[in-house]
Amino acid sequence: MSKHPGSQTICILDPATVNKIAAGEVVERPASVIKELVENAIDAGAQTIKIEIQSGKGAITGIRVTDDGSGMSQEDAVIAFAPHATSKISHISDLDTIRSLGFRGEALASIAAVSQVTLCTKPREMATVAGTKVIIEGGEIRERGEIGTPEGTTILVENLFFNIPVRKKFLKSLATELAHINSIVEGLALSHPNISMHLTHNGNEQIVTEQSSRLLDTIARLFGSELVKDLIPVEHNQPGILVSGYISRPSLFRKNQSRLLLSINGRYVSSHPINAAIVEGYGTLLSKERFPIVFLSLDIDTKSVDVNVHPTKKQVRLSREVEVCSAVREAVSHALLNSDLIPAGTMTTPRIVTGLSTPNPYEASYNQVPIHASVVSEPTHAGIITTERQLRQTELPTGIQPAPSLVPELEVIGQIGGIYILATTPSGDLILVDQHAAHERIMYELVSLKSESICRSQELIVPVTLHRSARDAAIMRELLPALAEEGFLIEDFGKDSFLVRAIPVVLGTLEQTGMVNEILDDLSREEPGRFVSNRERIVRIIACHSAIKAGTVCTPDQCRRLLQQLRKTKNPFSCPHGRPVMIRFSREQLDTMFKRT
Ligand code: ADP
Ligand code: MG
Repeated sequence: MSKHPGSQTICILDPATVNKIAAGEVVERPASVIKELVENAIDAGAQTIKIEIQSGKGAITGIRVTDDGSGMSQEDAVIAFAPHATSKISHISDLDTIRSLGFRGEALASIAAVSQVTLCTKPREMATVAGTKVIIEGGEIRERGEIGTPEGTTILVENLFFNIPVRKKFLKSLATELAHINSIVEGLALSHPNISMHLTHNGNEQIVTEQSSRLLDTIARLFGSELVKDLIPVEHNQPGILVSGYISRPSLFRKNQSRLLLSINGRYVSSHPINAAIVEGYGTLLSKERFPIVFLSLDIDTKSVDVNVHPTKKQVRLSREVEVCSAVREAVSHALLNSDLIPAGTMTTPRIVTGLSTPNPYEASYNQVPIHASVVSEPTHAGIITTERQLRQTELPTGIQPAPSLVPELEVIGQIGGIYILATTPSGDLILVDQHAAHERIMYELVSLKSESICRSQELIVPVTLHRSARDAAIMRELLPALAEEGFLIEDFGKDSFLVRAIPVVLGTLEQTGMVNEILDDLSREEPGRFVSNRERIVRIIACHSAIKAGTVCTPDQCRRLLQQLRKTKNPFSCPHGRPVMIRFSREQLDTMFKRT
């Protein structure tokens, strides 16, 4: 029961309590202490930062951060622990141009309020002066004096949360806390490749980065040089916004967003809108619920970035968010569209369907067509005619000069199982093309472009009536305008039924009305994960249903024309759902596989 309002007495909290409360915002766990101390070292101009973690009995017992930065004078060493003590700003307007990581003057005060801190520091500027040692416990200065110490600063934090048992109780297992520390140090190292960082746990090396002017060196140090091979450089410049860094080829992905690493003006941050922009930049190169590995740094006019929205400054607010996101999207898609993205096949690659026992990471909606020994290798007459019609629809009107292809000239060798086309490049690489995925891609680009020849609508001789469940009918009603845009003339007939009067020409002969039902089923299914617009979904479904099917035996000439059309697409590497269209075995790879090297 709350007290009667009248009986309430208001009192102003004492400074020690205020500090402990404030500390709760900044110092959530050991990793937050490290973040603050390392950021201070970076601001102090350190070139080398050493982070030592000690643990015992399943908990972190000590954190020591040593830097070779500016150091502090004796007076500063004491003032630094006062709340709101900072050397980085003196007026609120300084925030408009701030380049340092710190500015709130809260970190040292907060850390000292909830732990025992030993600071040893010696200023670089006044090299003759002795060093200073300060010991603070729960915010109270216990000891201060001179000490012999190298130039720079060492801060030792022990007994974290000794005076806040609740917080201590909520700390996670040692392994979890160490994982948080690792990811904080990774982020700091990636946003500052020019600083060497060294993290140890009980004396064992965890992370070591060398000073380098190249972000790629730091990435290789942190995640291994294998990863670097699968990265594509990004460089994009527009007034007030510079985007640079590295992104993974679409063949490399994660199931979550944990490797979307972002820094804005040297500050390692997280941002949902920018993450979304990155994923949008990949477009159809990634299937849903797949996320790339990305290291991007953004340099944005400091006036457009509000860094003061969160006590730990993990988030920032961008006043030109829309513009920044579109720059990121543009940067990512431009980098991808200018690279050769054919994934390499390997003996063990799970991308190749070697048998039904191999799990296909490109999952269910890609029907696995069983290859029977008895499969006809000759195309049927009806098959040739259908394929002919499908290929003619996607023939580019003559006279249009497409951009230079991202795929080399391909010479057709043959087709396997009516599914894969085998081809070689002039340099002797073997290329395997999934014929359905390839035609789906071609169709998708033409339908997206609203190519005249593709987007015509054809009236059904006999309109088809569809009955939907109440839920599906609601979804249908919502989709009707977008469907009409793409050539589906469907009338709401009331009582959850609809009358289909016309469908896009590309969907084939008029008798195939069963397909209409199938398409509408696809559309009413909720798509989990990433947001895809209704139009985009309809375009993808039309592309999928109108493309040459897997299992269709094609003539050599048809295979050739299909590959020619594919080479003209903007993105010949993946189908609209993000699955690969082709896989390459290079000559060297084949030689290795046959042990010729
Ligand atoms: P902020 O970083 O927001 O200014 P802090 O509480 O983190 O606030 O630090 C207070 C001040 O102490 C800093 O402004 C800086 O002048 C000084 N300081 C802290 N750490 C270091 C360090 N490692 N080297 C030199 N000066 C430091
Ligand atoms: Mg700070």
